[in-house]
Amino acid sequence: MTSSVRPLLNRRLAEFGTTIFAEMSALALRTGSINLGQGFPDTDGPEEVREAAVRALRDGRGNQYPPGPGVPELRLAVAAHQERRYGLTYDPDTEVLVTAGATEAIAAALLALLEPGDEVVALEPYYDSYAACIAMAGARRVPVTLRPDGGRFRLDLDELRAAVTDRTRLLLINTPHNPTGTVLTREELAAVAELAVERDLLVVTDEVYEHLVFDGAEHVPLATFPGMRERTVTISSAGKTYSFTGWKVGWVTAPPALVTAVRSAKQFLTYVASGPFQYAVAEALALPDSYYADFRADMQAKRDLLASGLKEAGFEVFTSAGTYFITTDIRPLGESDGFAFCRALPERAGVVAIPNAVFYDHKDAGAPYVRFAFCKRAEVLQEAADRLRRLAP
Ligand SMILES: *Cc1c(COP(=O)(O)O)cnc(C)c1O
Repeated sequence: MTSSVRPLLNRRLAEFGTTIFAEMSALALRTGSINLGQGFPDTDGPEEVREAAVRALRDGRGNQYPPGPGVPELRLAVAAHQERRYGLTYDPDTEVLVTAGATEAIAAALLALLEPGDEVVALEPYYDSYAACIAMAGARRVPVTLRPDGGRFRLDLDELRAAVTDRTRLLLINTPHNPTGTVLTREELAAVAELAVERDLLVVTDEVYEHLVFDGAEHVPLATFPGMRERTVTISSAGKTYSFTGWKVGWVTAPPALVTAVRSAKQFLTYVASGPFQYAVAEALALPDSYYADFRADMQAKRDLLASGLKEAGFEVFTSAGTYFITTDIRPLGESDGFAFCRALPERAGVVAIPNAVFYDHKDAGAPYVRFAFCKRAEVLQEAADRLRRLAP
């Protein structure tokens, strides 16, 4: 009926009609495969944090609309975390905003800060919500492709520089980087910062994997570089750090004018969310350093378990220096089309993965790469690794 008049989905969103995650999760279910597609843990976070949420619910804290900027306890805890870990001071009243996960923070930041026609330079491959939110804002994305180099995906600083034009409004950065597992080096970050300052750009930086960096590496927030604090919207969330992805508690730290702008959009998206969970996350943020060290060591062991299985199966495995994910190259297996490979993998090996091409505008550049999530129990990863070995020539 409507199709003869015009498509239902508007032009800005038409290209985002279906998500690969739905297709691949359905495929996993249908074939009884191990789902290493979507990135969520198969075990919950710390018991004391879960209990803190129960206590908040029982005590009637957060069961009604929490304050628009977030409950004061959580804003204080976020500010204290930024200060303790990175030496970044933010005023909990004017420089911290609680959101419905990092997802809402990204959407609100882009909707608030972009005019139609503005250009956004983003690292490709990118987290799927970036492209959609840039499109909803009527802006244009300008991808800078991360390319394999020496076992990791590297940011080409000349390409980044060349991507900035007079229409560029902001840089959208993600480190540690999903899906490649790259952690931008201090040199790369310094160059991003210099460029932002030189061209007077805003920076939105998605740092949800800030606590998931491996092999003794260190996460360095972009806001710590000279001239950056004043122009940077830093986004993080509790989902990945505390293994409660269903709670959807995220936050923004930025100077007052930027927080005010982001809040202007945020108030008309969810207004507020996750009341009792906000109190629980405030307690989580105060967990001792040992929690983070144990969490990191545990995830690193999972990474190693899956990586060795993938190597034995014949994949080229890129170093995952952070995040939940390993990106592989399927060409050593005699394959070149990640989509076809992932559609066939459940039948061939009983495992589901995601073709990285879905995270690219330059589909060809992403074609041979496939992403596996390792945020699963060791026995699940072991079974997946055993199954994948069947692919070995
Ligand atoms: C998971 C993820 C998010 C979303 O975080 P939520 O807090 O669950 O909304 C944002 N960015 C990246 C890179 C992610 O991997």
